[in-house]
Amino acid sequence: MGSVVREQGEAMMVVRLRRGVVGETRRVCHLVPVPDVSETPTEITALCGERILPGQAELLSGFRGMPCETCLALSARTLSPGLVHAS
Ligand SMILES: [Zn+2]
Repeated sequence: MGSVVREQGEAMMVVRLRRGVVGETRRVCHLVPVPDVSETPTEITALCGERILPGQAELLSGFRGMPCETCLALSARTLSPGLVHAS
């Protein structure tokens, strides 16, 4: 399972797998690049490589609960020098 290559300034969504899809320990907040809106994706892929099918996840307005450490690390690595995340 590979990670997703993303471009600078790309819009991100915060998603979390729904209760019952996975165990509570895997219900972390993933960062997912916003898919092309001209087509309905059959699945979305988080920065960490987690593949999420439609209906499996909930879209969040921000990080709630435990963030996915891999998604966070990959996100921070691509920030422009001098920029920090506002949270
Ligand atoms: Zn993740």
